[in-house]
Amino acid sequence: MKQIAILGSTGSVGTQTLEVIAAFPDRYAAHSLTAHSRVDLLERQIARFGPRMIAVHDAERAAALARGAGAPSIHTGVEGLIEAVTHPDVDLVISALPGSAGLVPTLRAIEAGKTIGLANKEILVMAGEIVMAAARRHGVEILPVDSEHCAVHQCLSGQDPDRVERVVLTASGGPFRDSDPDELSRMSSKEALNHPTWNMGRKVTIDSATLMNKGFEVIEAHWLFGLPVSKIDVVIHPQSIIHSMVEMVDGSLLAQMGPTDMRIPIQYALSYPERLETPWPRFDITRHWSLTLDPPNVAMFPCLGLAYDAIRRGSTLPAVLSTADEVAVEAFLQQRIGFNDIPRIIADAMDRHGAAPGSDRHGAAPGSAAPVTLESIVAADRWTRTYCREKLIAG
Ligand code: MG
Repeated sequence: MKQIAILGSTGSVGTQTLEVIAAFPDRYAAHSLTAHSRVDLLERQIARFGPRMIAVHDAERAAALARGAGAPSIHTGVEGLIEAVTHPDVDLVISALPGSAGLVPTLRAIEAGKTIGLANKEILVMAGEIVMAAARRHGVEILPVDSEHCAVHQCLSGQDPDRVERVVLTASGGPFRDSDPDELSRMSSKEALNHPTWNMGRKVTIDSATLMNKGFEVIEAHWLFGLPVSKIDVVIHPQSIIHSMVEMVDGSLLAQMGPTDMRIPIQYALSYPERLETPWPRFDITRHWSLTLDPPNVAMFPCLGLAYDAIRRGSTLPAVLSTADEVAVEAFLQQRIGFNDIPRIIADAMDRHGAAPGSDRHGAAPGSAAPVTLESIVAADRWTRTYCREKLIAG
């Protein structure tokens, strides 16, 4: 029996992970569940899955949970998250907290030798170097719970990494793919949340509409597969049937295809290296399908270029990119800023961070490799949060 801990069990990936666990009850058990604030849903998950540990971010909300004989042990705060994922009985951690909140608990889980199913891409965007070094040091496997990287992981299986020409990540293009560029600034969060092919959490759905999600995925692929970003390309593929491709040096293009169902990459991570017969709907090959591929419109969606820029310049700039996006998307969802303000705020934060007194990039030439530490990333995260909220959104 594989014991699973889920960081973020009430979110989109968390609830779908529990569906996979429920489909294979003699293989997987939910050992630890953690939630930020949706304790009502967490309560139902506890009743259904009988986890042994619970962590709730907010101590007041945790107090509302039933305690007593047979109830799981309840923990709070970041320390609670860490306890939930590092328990000696846990085999695999699904890291699915959005934003930077999952970084420290995931690092602690790696240090405790747990296999990671990584659904939170911001962790690799902010701290890819540190996370991958820790995984190497502790002999921990990081399995991507992201349809594109799951596809690349499968295409690379059995291939010589030195014979890879490039990785091609597919993007649906989001709901505004065919919109008039002049209309973009007036797009509402309701329209942006209407994703054409995938059913996901709110943050990642807005990131799909701006193409920042794909920018994050470029950085994620760079760390997961050890490839320079010059070898990672993006194509727009609105049908979301090809989940990504790997081009080999002989010109062969390997693609992984399948239904748009996150339970499939989640199941892949839980069962790897085994493959289990899936209970979910399959791709019906007898229907008419058409596949189209187009280059992304980088002028209309500047977030993709900002992501390439951040990882090329390195240091803590990818952390600034990630946090500025998190704050901007939150403000957009609250209807405090417009759609085109999202890339404007991120670009402004990246420019200012390079010149900010006290930043580790102060006085450093672009591209110079100041060593990145967890402390410098946390400091960059804090600076960016404050700067964006006080200077760019409140004003
Ligand atoms: Mg993805």
